[in-house]
Amino acid sequence: MKNKHYEVLIVGGGISGTALFYELAKYTSVKSIGLLEKYEALATLNSKGTSNSQTIHIGDIETNYTLEKAKITKRTAKMVEKFCLQYGLEEKIMFSHQKMALGVGKKEVAFIEHRYNEFKTLFPYLELWDVEKLKTLEPKVVYADKEQTKVRPEPIIAMGTNTQYTTVDYGAMSEALAEQAQKCSDQECSSIETDIFYNTQVTDIFQKEDKSFEILTKNGETFSADFVVVNAGAHSLFLAHRMGYGKDMGCLPMAGSFYMTEELFLKGKVYMVQNNKLPFAALHGDPDILAEGKTRFGPTALMLPKLERFKPGTYLDFFKTLNFDFHIVKIFWDLLKDSDIRNYVFKNFLFEVPFINKKLFVQDARKIVPSLSVDDITYAKGFGGIRPQVLDKKKEKLMLGEASINPGTGIIFNMTPSPGATSCLGNAERDMKEIVKHLNLEYDEKQFLEDLTESIEETS
Ligand SMILES: Cc1cc2nc3c(=O)[nH]c(=O)nc-3n(C[C@H](O)[C@H](O)[C@H](O)COP(=O)(O)OP(=O)(O)OC[C@H]3O[C@@H](n4cnc5c(N)ncnc54)[C@H](O)[C@@H]3O)c2cc1C
Repeated sequence: MKNKHYEVLIVGGGISGTALFYELAKYTSVKSIGLLEKYEALATLNSKGTSNSQTIHIGDIETNYTLEKAKITKRTAKMVEKFCLQYGLEEKIMFSHQKMALGVGKKEVAFIEHRYNEFKTLFPYLELWDVEKLKTLEPKVVYADKEQTKVRPEPIIAMGTNTQYTTVDYGAMSEALAEQAQKCSDQECSSIETDIFYNTQVTDIFQKEDKSFEILTKNGETFSADFVVVNAGAHSLFLAHRMGYGKDMGCLPMAGSFYMTEELFLKGKVYMVQNNKLPFAALHGDPDILAEGKTRFGPTALMLPKLERFKPGTYLDFFKTLNFDFHIVKIFWDLLKDSDIRNYVFKNFLFEVPFINKKLFVQDARKIVPSLSVDDITYAKGFGGIRPQVLDKKKEKLMLGEASINPGTGIIFNMTPSPGATSCLGNAERDMKEIVKHLNLEYDEKQFLEDLTESIEETS
């Protein structure tokens, strides 16, 4: 069997792996990069357009983000937009929709008003929409009946915009990133090697005495590299554990499913006020760019004992990656002690139970569209994915966002639950800088910032 050596090897061809592949090829002096992907194509798991909500989570309508967090997410989310604009991908894989965070009831209305005043400095395009404005912008959130004669009884208000790019097919973007990376090696001036290996599942990684890495795959091929980045979703932690890293973490795979309307129900994205105790966005409504613009409601959140949705196996990988012990029991116990979380977990379990699921789901979705009925929606078969939520065993807590293990030895493991697709280029920037330092490469930071970040004039 051949053993091919690369300066950098990336494991996993989702949006995280391809973003790093692109940045290294385009902005650094690296001479060879290999991308190893388990399946026959890029982005067949969570980055696929039908697996996630397709949202660019910039921080303006995500009510669980603080202003400080939104400053960071704004920079990385804008990178996605800049990349798509740079290659003319607007209206092909990136789209602009109206979007809003909707407050329902007195308490949430006050919350949205306060938040609008706090966030409009960072997002000057935001507008505050009262019930009269919403009657024209998004009538279905206003009326209690299908005929649109009766306004819903609770007060409502929304903060939103219809001037921004909001939606991306992250599967198609993964392909675009890989394509552009490989174009860098086609250019005469560049002698960089950018190889992608499909149907190549990494089973083990070893660090050799000379500090380089040996990578074993299921089909018997071996690779070696000076630096390795594992962007394999939940399997990143699985591979980290096999090397003895990240033993203080476990992975809880939370599946998300959707329901779909027959026709376009909402003009744009409607998000609700988030319960800060939960690591997931509250149920929302989105126009689906891959289902003829039908409206998708969801996602739900159900713990599944496997690491990959709609693929066979990975049950054993789940048990290994959960890393079960009394710390995990304590995390579950603490979570389930909270009645909000307990109810949420139970309800989301029922959302997957045939016959009662639709009825219960509609009850929740009526907070967005009060006139929604069971006949309006169907379970979106084959849609949805898995969010690899990370459990911090030392702190005995569920981590709310992404996790990265970097022991400083030339290998990095990334676990990227939502909104990992939005932050793909930002996370790749962090890892690229680490690789540049470790391998003593050159990095064209000026060009990177010019291409992918907003100038002072654009931000003001
Ligand atoms: C229901 C849902 C809704 C979401 N909504 C949004 C949203 O609106 N906006 C947003 O920004 N994010 C959203 N996310 C999160 C987003 O989809 C993920 O964060 C993102 O897709 C993660 O990308 P990734 O490349 O890290 O992982 P993945 O897309 O899971 O890719 C991992 C890749 O690694 C490969 N792989 C795995 N194991 C191995 C191995 N051993 N060897 C080789 N290859 C391997 C896999 O085949 C796969 O191609 C959502 C997620 C879900 C589940």
